[in-house]
Amino acid sequence: MYNILIAKYGEIGVKGKNRYIFENKLIRNIRNMLKSIGEFNVYKEYGRIYIDVNDSNYKVAVEEVRKVFGVVGVCPAIKREKDYDMLKETALMLLREKISMGAKTFKIASKRGDKSFKFTSQEMSIDIGGYVLSNINNKDVSVDVRNPDVTITCEYRNEHILVYADSISGFGGLPLGTNGKAMTLLSGGIDSPVASWLVAKRGVDIEAVHFHSYPFTNERSQEKVRELAKILSKYCGPIKLHMVNILEIQKSIANNCNEEETTILSRRFMMRIAEEIGVKRYCDALITGESIGQVASQTMQGITCTNAAVSIPVFRPLIAMDKIDIIKTAENIGTYETSIIPEVDCCSLFSPKKPVTKPRLERIEKSESKLDVDKLIKSAIDASVMEVISYE
Ligand code: ATP
Ligand code: MG
Repeated sequence: MYNILIAKYGEIGVKGKNRYIFENKLIRNIRNMLKSIGEFNVYKEYGRIYIDVNDSNYKVAVEEVRKVFGVVGVCPAIKREKDYDMLKETALMLLREKISMGAKTFKIASKRGDKSFKFTSQEMSIDIGGYVLSNINNKDVSVDVRNPDVTITCEYRNEHILVYADSISGFGGLPLGTNGKAMTLLSGGIDSPVASWLVAKRGVDIEAVHFHSYPFTNERSQEKVRELAKILSKYCGPIKLHMVNILEIQKSIANNCNEEETTILSRRFMMRIAEEIGVKRYCDALITGESIGQVASQTMQGITCTNAAVSIPVFRPLIAMDKIDIIKTAENIGTYETSIIPEVDCCSLFSPKKPVTKPRLERIEKSESKLDVDKLIKSAIDASVMEVISYE
């Protein structure tokens, strides 16, 4: 029945003169997303993005297209030659299908793309509604314009006619690759994958860095992060993941500094390393999963100290979100199940029994002056490994 998908996009419609750049990017991204399931014809026609499909592939195609950032909804539709009688017939056919699936009330919504057509869109709806109601031969089915079980949209366009009922929601946002690149600090926890996803949704390409303390942390904890990156790559395409061992840094902090400052000090190293790798890789910002007050190191004072270690912007999309809402997003995007697998994290190894909750930057800097910061950072970066994670 369905032979075309309409990919609806929201915000890029308001980009004025640059609109076509966003649209073309979106088309390319949809094509790329669909590559894993086959060859599809994706094209733009009169300000709409369409994908040709058939009965056997439309369902899987919808699932792929709805994951493309920038897409607010996907409608499986029936496209036919431009013919008004055919439009009425097709509406009837689709309604029959919906009734067989349990719908009892319906509404016809019409759009007249061809302004020279004899009916206005309102007249079309009344005409088509009357036609389908008298041909449906089912006493239990009625029109309800306020709260229908199904809305059948009928479009009489310049080029062809379109009939559709459902819109499967997408995530919105902006097409990937339209807003530069950022380096995300990806731990194995719940928060950082969500933070990365939220920024990527705004069209930002992401690259990731993960810190571990191998052999103190095991191979499985790295595997978990690869798995999280892989889930993110479903949305973002292949992700470059930098694996950085910070064991020497943590030892050096443990041997030279106040125990209660350990977490803040190691965070500052993480930020600096992420910044240095990021800048080399043309990233314009860092991303973290921090949220005010969530843990001792994320108090206002804690974040201030962490932030002061770097000079490029740090995006913290979860800053004002409650854990419960972060979890909901994690479930929605598919990272939650992996994030909650218990593994040893590099931070938990050296975490102090009583961490400072109100660190003062001068004191943190004083502690840090006991360390050979530049040398520690250089060795960690020199030994880091870049992997490319992609979703097959
Ligand atoms: P998450 O759930 O993302 O691990 P969290 O609530 O456990 O976050 P912290 O452990 O305080 O918070 O970490 C704050 C942020 O620092 C993380 O969201 C992440 O961006 C970064 N981070 C922490 N540990 C690591 C790590 N091992 N590798 C990379 N980034 C890390
Ligand atoms: Mg963590």
